[in-house]
Amino acid sequence: MQAKFMFGNEAIARGAFEAGVKVVAGYPGTPATEIVDHCASFPGIYAEWSSNEKHAFEVAGGACLTNQRAMAVMKHNGTNAAADYLMHINFTGVKAGLVLISADDPGGLSSQCEEDTRILIHTYAHLPMFDPANVQEAYQMTKLAFDLSEKTELVFAIRPVMRINHAGGMVECQGSITAGKPPEFVPDRSRFVMSAVVEKEYGGELRPKMRHRWLNNKQAELKAIMEESPFNWIDSSEGDIGFVGCGIGYAFLKEAEKIYGQSLPIMKLGTLPIPEKKTLEFLKGLKKVVIFEEIEPVVERLVKQLCFENKISLDILGRESFLPKEGELSTNLVLTAVQAVFAGKDYPAPAQGKYIPARTRTQCGGCSHRGLLFAMKEVVRKNGGVVTGDIGCHDAGTFEPMKLQATIYCMGSSIPMAYGIQKAGFDKPVYALIGDSTFFHNGLTGLASAIFNKANITVVIGYNSTTAMTGFQPHAASTNNLMSKDVKPINPGELAAAMGAKVFWCNPYNVEDTIRVITEATQEEGVKVVVAEALCYLKFGREGKISYQPVPVAVDIDVCNGCGICIRTFGCPAITLVADKARIDESACNKCGVCIHVCKRGAIK
Ligand code: SF4
Ligand code: SF4
Ligand code: SF4
Repeated sequence: MQAKFMFGNEAIARGAFEAGVKVVAGYPGTPATEIVDHCASFPGIYAEWSSNEKHAFEVAGGACLTNQRAMAVMKHNGTNAAADYLMHINFTGVKAGLVLISADDPGGLSSQCEEDTRILIHTYAHLPMFDPANVQEAYQMTKLAFDLSEKTELVFAIRPVMRINHAGGMVECQGSITAGKPPEFVPDRSRFVMSAVVEKEYGGELRPKMRHRWLNNKQAELKAIMEESPFNWIDSSEGDIGFVGCGIGYAFLKEAEKIYGQSLPIMKLGTLPIPEKKTLEFLKGLKKVVIFEEIEPVVERLVKQLCFENKISLDILGRESFLPKEGELSTNLVLTAVQAVFAGKDYPAPAQGKYIPARTRTQCGGCSHRGLLFAMKEVVRKNGGVVTGDIGCHDAGTFEPMKLQATIYCMGSSIPMAYGIQKAGFDKPVYALIGDSTFFHNGLTGLASAIFNKANITVVIGYNSTTAMTGFQPHAASTNNLMSKDVKPINPGELAAAMGAKVFWCNPYNVEDTIRVITEATQEEGVKVVVAEALCYLKFGREGKISYQPVPVAVDIDVCNGCGICIRTFGCPAITLVADKARIDESACNKCGVCIHVCKRGAIK
């Protein structure tokens, strides 16, 4: 045993490495991103950033059929993108161990939505899951999940939440590394061909129904495993009010117990299915139980069902009936609930806090997106129109001061939504703004659909050669991947041209030219693609590469009339208003020169 300080994502990667994982695939997304990077640093692991989460899961699925342990890594909304494969591999099962990491983000601290993937993976796809309460468990659960996946022939999922992925703690590692088997692919069409074919040997049943039965029959085996799991236990069970902590809910409960100053009857749960016998043992003699779990009342409903089936009557409180239904748990929330339940009161309505103005989201000083956003805003201001947005650093353009994109949903939605607006009869130009990584994730098929259906839209691709928002992971238009520094990038503009779009090119640091090119593209009929190409300043600047020729800029205070347009409409963090005049903070200015185009009085030079 060796103890080492690790963050949750490193602990998960370590657990996978020690379990003998050979193939790891993912798509970047906070809070799970670093898991793949850590895996790439271990010897003997092939790791990749796939184009999207579905493909990552499919790569891992192919590897496990080749007798190699594999892992797919994604954040919660990525699991939605992978749901189609999930709802097939649950029926086929696996050969070598296959682990799915699906990281949830309670409170939506770094996401477009707040969702609980336990519903998709366990309630819907009937697959087993682990819910770690701390970094040590994240390591242990990952390691054990591979063995259990192989034993049960099912994908095992782990659902760390943001405060596990990014938490740090000492982790006791076993150090032993499971030896793998030689790669071998033996076709087994009766399992791995999911199709509506008749199974002669099963009385003429269709295969989907037969595999569904196989999955249902597995549930008893899973329940027996979880009954013995080291991740479920009862701390103490005195009194007639009990508390259940699921995953990180247990950690908050233990903190609250310390502050409360009195030992509480607590059960800790870390698995789905829940251990039914152990849970019944804990519930015995209780009049009331409060269940703390992140996001949705998944365990709460299972406990209610268990009590119903066993004719047990007690008050079962949780996310469904007592606690706030949305947002993260916290020690304070749990302590408030403990105090309220002992006092026989409802959970108190949240006090209205003071409004503290939040810092708006923006791009780095020197970012190419700011020039692109400003140019698009100028085009829309002159000619009217609407811009649908997508996920990436550019999505900050939807907030003050730019307020350009009118929609932001999920990866790749900008293009189909744009042509949906156009097809519905909107009579002004429609634009879709998408980054290069998102274009390869799920924009390509949307573009094909737009071209095939004879849409009339302008798609603008911010081509900065990296997945910047999540920490500069490479993608199909980059010059490297996780295993090689020498990769031929797939140029999104050439690809769009090959698909039949009319393609235009511009340099977003040249605002006037970008306005001209987007205007020209708008005037054409059909699907036009404008590729705004410039390297991400932050990533490539650190590597000594040049995104633009630096231009020293300053405000001529004799010309500046303090109108504030450069601040209200543009939002470079280096520009402020001091004594009614614009001022450029030299320490924050990266000399991209884009703001020169913004001041119509010519005060920025
Ligand atoms: S990380 Fe790169 S793409 Fe993102 S805001 Fe900064 S310069 Fe722009
Ligand atoms: S620099 Fe130009 S845009 Fe900015 S406050 Fe002065 S006059 Fe207005
Ligand atoms: S102040 Fe102007 S030149 Fe400096 S980083 Fe901002 S936009 Fe670029």
